[in-house]
Amino acid sequence: MNLQIQHVKKEFNHTMALADVTFAVSQGEFVSVIGPSGAGKTTLFRILNGMLPCTSGQILLDGIPFQSLHGRQKRRLQTSIATIYQDFCLVENSTCLENVLTASLPDLGFFSGVLGLYGKNREAEALQLLDRVGLLDKAEEPVKNLSGGQKQRAAIARALMRHPGILLADEPVASLDPVTGRQILELLRSIHETEGVTILMNSHNLEFSREFSQRLIGLRDGKIVFDGKTTELTEEI
Ligand code: ADP
Ligand code: ADP
Repeated sequence: MNLQIQHVKKEFNHTMALADVTFAVSQGEFVSVIGPSGAGKTTLFRILNGMLPCTSGQILLDGIPFQSLHGRQKRRLQTSIATIYQDFCLVENSTCLENVLTASLPDLGFFSGVLGLYGKNREAEALQLLDRVGLLDKAEEPVKNLSGGQKQRAAIARALMRHPGILLADEPVASLDPVTGRQILELLRSIHETEGVTILMNSHNLEFSREFSQRLIGLRDGKIVFDGKTTELTEEI
């Protein structure tokens, strides 16, 4: 799935968190957004996952302006963007499997309930995804008993349950130690390569961004100050 962000602005009271941000991400890219604290990275990600409206500008998904859609069409497009977060955002008292099953899916309407088949297939798929992220043996374990790395793996399985066209990774390894963080990024890279999902990552760890993404977008004071291949970045953002 490709993504176009056109002249997006976001103003909070008197702060211009994003000032005329324009860039496009093609199907299958692995892009990192980098920049100092306060640059606007979180704001950009919140706008992209639909949690925050922008003040002006537009976002197109596969050429379709997101804001123009309503109802089921909008939900369908919304579920094609999945997010993983720094603090995982899992339900701690529920099991891994239950968390993966809570992923919101496109509305299939009446047929989704027929004979409960949809439910059975979903559970089989959730178990398959837990296996994919190396957590099959923890399927019935409450999330609160897992390590940070295992929690992020469960969150990745939940995101994949939506068959996302775009995976937003908002500081995915910021609360993990470097060794565990690297393992999570290796898992994301493998998903990027095998599933072909477009990944947009936000990280303040420049070393990881350089190593795992092919392109960097540098934000400072809500403006794009760099957009190019990882190898082309020479100065500090
Ligand atoms: P980053 O994620 O790069 O650290 P943010 O997107 O969190 O940057 O913040 C960008 C700017 O917008 C900062 O100046 C921040 O203080 C401001 N900001 C973010 N969220 C809000 C909010 N809810 N209300 C007011 N100002 C905000
Ligand atoms: P991050 O660690 O991702 O950079 P922040 O610490 O910038 O996140 O923001 C944490 C929360 O505080 C967010 O909900 C953000 O919207 C809010 N926030 C950030 N800056 C401000 C601000 N200047 N005024 C009000 N809320 C803010």
